[in-house]
Amino acid sequence: MKKNNIFKKIIKKEIPADILYQDSKVTVFSDIKPKAPIHFLVVPNKVISSLNEIQKKDKNLIFHMLNIAITLAKKKNISSTGYRLLINCNQHAGQEINHLHIHVLGGKKLKSI
Ligand code: AMP
Repeated sequence: MKKNNIFKKIIKKEIPADILYQDSKVTVFSDIKPKAPIHFLVVPNKVISSLNEIQKKDKNLIFHMLNIAITLAKKKNISSTGYRLLINCNQHAGQEINHLHIHVLGGKKLKSI
């Protein structure tokens, strides 16, 4: 995993990114190396290093992240054709950035996993 949390810098607008949405809890931006025509990341503003670290107190935040993912998928017109939400957790799943994020992928027929 990378030592520097680049997502924190994006959230604080210290480095540029294509930010699609931001509020006090969540930031959403386009993935820099998109794996599908539509590929964005839904990221909590507070650092949760991986899925393993979520706690009961985060339940509203997690629901909010899902809700934002769905809302933006609708806005991007991929909700009826379909899309995929993906969370990588730790090395075997290929998690590169040590800050929880939901990938939202769509805009083409995705390979089955
Ligand atoms: P993961 O492998 O699940 O940790 O996903 C990390 C994702 O972050 C990858 O799809 C990267 O392409 C993406 N990424 C890395 N750096 C940036 C950046 N500066 N701006 C946007 N996306 C990024």
